[in-house]
Parts: sequence; C-alpha cells; structure tokens
Amino acid sequence: MNELIQLTAAEAAEKLASGEITSVELTQAHLDRIAATDGAPLSDNRADGKNGLNAFLHINAEEALATAAAVDADRAAGKELPPLAGVPIAVKDLIVTKGQPTTAASRMLEGWMSPYDGTVTRKVREARMPILGKTNLDEFAMGSSNEHSAFGVVRNPWALDRAPGGSGGGSAAAVTAFQAPLALGTDTGGSIRQPAALTGSVGVKPTYGSVSRYGVIAMASSLDQVGPVARTVLDTALLHEAIAGHDPLDATSLPDEPGNFVEEAKAGAEAARKGDLSGLRIGVIKELGGGNGEGFEAGVLARFRESVEELRAAGAEIIEVSLPSVTEAISAYYMIMSSEVSSNLARYDGVRYGLRVVPEDGPVTIERVMSATRSAGFGHEVKRRIILGTHVLSAGYYDAYYGSAQKVRTLIQRDFDAVFEQVDVLVSPTAPETAFKFGEKTSDPLAMYLYDVATIPANLAGIPGMNVPNAVSSEGLPIGFQVLAPARGDLVMYKVASLVEALSDDVAGQCPAANWEEK
Ligand code: GLN
Repeated sequence: MNELIQLTAAEAAEKLASGEITSVELTQAHLDRIAATDGAPLSDNRADGKNGLNAFLHINAEEALATAAAVDADRAAGKELPPLAGVPIAVKDLIVTKGQPTTAASRMLEGWMSPYDGTVTRKVREARMPILGKTNLDEFAMGSSNEHSAFGVVRNPWALDRAPGGSGGGSAAAVTAFQAPLALGTDTGGSIRQPAALTGSVGVKPTYGSVSRYGVIAMASSLDQVGPVARTVLDTALLHEAIAGHDPLDATSLPDEPGNFVEEAKAGAEAARKGDLSGLRIGVIKELGGGNGEGFEAGVLARFRESVEELRAAGAEIIEVSLPSVTEAISAYYMIMSSEVSSNLARYDGVRYGLRVVPEDGPVTIERVMSATRSAGFGHEVKRRIILGTHVLSAGYYDAYYGSAQKVRTLIQRDFDAVFEQVDVLVSPTAPETAFKFGEKTSDPLAMYLYDVATIPANLAGIPGMNVPNAVSSEGLPIGFQVLAPARGDLVMYKVASLVEALSDDVAGQCPAANWEEK
C-alpha cells in the first residue's frame, strides 16, 4: 500500500508543511486508492465484478487535484496556510457542494447539482482541503446499515459481506479503507458514531448547534448534526476545529467559537502516557452497558468493561449512574424523527428539486405528478418513515404520539442534566454488536432500529458523543467505545477519547484493508 495513504491527517499536514510531500502527490495517491478499491474487483469471485467498497457516489478528481495544485503553489510562494491545507477529505453526500452532484443516495435527487455550498463545505474549502468526492449513505440518512442507499450498499472493509453501519457507512468505510484520511458525516440518531464503531474509525457528533447545518439536507432538524470521521482522535479534533463555529445562516447555531479540541486530544494522550487521570469522574450508564449489560453482545460488553477498568487503573473515578428514561429513547426518537422527516421531505414534490415523473395516462394534475414522483423517487424506508411521521402528526394522534414523545425527550434531557452533576463524561459501548451481515436485519426494521440504542439518547439531549475503536473482536471485527459529554462539553470528550485510544491497541492498522494489494 502506498505510504502516503497510510498517513494520518496530522502526519500528512506536518509533511506538507515541511515540504516533504506535496498535496498533489497526496491527493493523487488517495484518488488512485479509490480507483483501485471502490468499484474495481478486490477479488474475482463475483459475477458482476463489483467487489469494490462502493463508498463513493461521486469522485471529484479534477477539482481535488486543482485545489491541491493551488495549495502547493501557495506553499511554494511562502504564503501562510491553514493547518489542514492540502489534506484531502471525503464528504457525505447529504451535504451540498457547488459544482458536484448531491443525491442523498436517493433517486429523488439523482443528477441534482446544488447551486450553493453548505457552510461546512465552504469551511472545508477555506481550510484549503481537496474534496475527493461524495460518500454513499442510506437514502436521506435513514438507516443503520447502508442497505437503504438507492445506489447500492457500501461494503465493510473488515469483511466485504458485512454492513459498515449507517447511515454514514460511506464516510466510515472510506476512512477505514485508506481512501481518505478524513471525512464528514452527519448524525441524527448515530449515523456518524455507529458506522465508526462498525468500521473501527473515530466518529464525532458535536454538541447540537455547534457545527452549522446550513446546506445539510435535512432529515430531522432538531436532531441533525455534522461531524468529523477519521482514523485517530487527533485527526477528528483537527477537522472539528475547521468546521465548528457560529453561523448566522443556521437559526439553531450556537454563538460559540470552536474549542481547542486538538490541545485537549493531546492532553488526553499525555495523561494516558503518564497514567494520571486523577480528578476525572467517568459515569458508566446502568442501562447502556452497565448493570447486567443486557442487550449487548458478550464480546462487546467484555471489552467495554476492560476499557473501563483500564481507565480506573489509571486513576479515574468510575461511578455507575442510572438514566432511567433512556430505555424509552428509541420510541421517542422514532416519533420525533419521523414527524420531522415527514415535514422536511414534503419539499420533494416533483416541482422544486430533482426528479419529476409525469403519469403517462390520465390527466396531468399537480397531485398526480406529485404522487407519481414521490412513489418513484423514494425508497421503502423513506416512505415508511414519511407515513409513520404523517400518522404521528395527524390531528387525532398528535397529543398521544408526538406530544408524549416530546415529554419523554424532556425527561431524557433532565436525566442527563442530573447525572452530569456527578460525572464529567459518560461511557458505553457504541453499538450493541459488531458488524452484521448484509440482509441479516433488513427483514425486521425494529431489529435494525435497536442498533441505535446507545447513540440516539445523545441526539435527543443535544449533547456531544463520539466513538473510539477500542479493540478487534475474536471474529476479527472492530469494537467501539462511546464517550458522551454535557452540551458544550466537547473538549472533555476529546480528552477522554484520546485516553481510551492510548489505552487500546491500534485498531485501524489491523483492518484487512491495510493489506489489500491494489491491482
Ligand atoms: N440509524 C438511525 C436512523 O435510521 C440514525 C440515522 C442518522 O443518524 N442519520 O434513523
């Protein structure tokens, strides 16, 4: 494997700054890797020859190389450049990018080009990072396996017959398979953290409102949040600093400046090296991996407990806390999320964006065009959620469903507020199991929904959370550890995540993708 693609973003940035490598070389190496692994055969046993990962829906080679060349020229001219200048990135195809297609992995937006950049896209450009392309996802970010993409599944780089998680499986797989050092994801109920857990990458959902949602195709606006994906905690911190901050274009944007996540990640690694975690209070959630560990696979639970013991041995105070209402989080989430989905997706009406299907026979009325377009353009899971949300919001059921779910949401927020009086961070396994095989959960949507049991509470409460890979299971699949912090407490989350990373084996390097031979 080309050495350039093994570099972390932090290492690449250093080598770029010192002139040891150029951004054109670095970007080209990643584009070559994508070409060799994304659609091309990795083995020859499939009739259709499509054994590639399918992590990308669009590859942006020309523009990425032009950005890289411009950065190299500015560097040669001695201009001052931002820290990640020249380091390439992949962007989830839910975030709009001027000049490149944005599809949300839906037939509804196939071929659609945004006339503007989202705020995070603009920030990535201002950071002078070449955009390698747009990554695959479950349609409109609805799913936990990538099996709901209209453009084919993303394969898990650890085992090609397994799902990479979802909805951001493309971003997670791209980073794990060394196609990109960095990626952007979005997390409404776990879509950054859960695929990170299933692919052995680091994924961060920031505090709600701390990264702009302007130009992020809305799934459930009160829950959606953009965040970084990478192979190390330090790399996510670097990207997080580049994308965070107040944005007047997003009405829910917090007035805060981005924190110094990089410094905090380094402090965590240093504390782990010294073995001095005194003063740090870590809460184990009784309902999520604490107590008798119900609902979590034995291997995942065992490694979670080991990590907690490693933190205790290094001096952290471990306190078991209870969040009684989190057991209702999935139910509340499916009411609130689907309500917001039904409202947000009403805009795909065959008039304003993307697909328009005109019925062949019968009169052409606005209702009939709308109905034909939405029938053809949306996949099953999206339709299921629109129907559910419309029902939840209907006059006769609004109080019983939507109203009750909002009350549960408040209870969850209060539970978190109460436990954060006692602890600095909370920890749990990120996903109840390691990566599952394709098809294993598709027949039972409820089984799929349960995969988000540990990630959804943070979205309902608006608090930050992240996944750090902490082991490889006996089956050779990555296991993830989740750190949750109070709202606006993203800094301490980075510190604890880098401690866990330092106390665990290197997971990213054990991925079979590290040994793939490129043809
Ligand atoms: N898997 C969750 C769902 O299906 C979360 C999706 C997300 O975070 N975008 O809704």
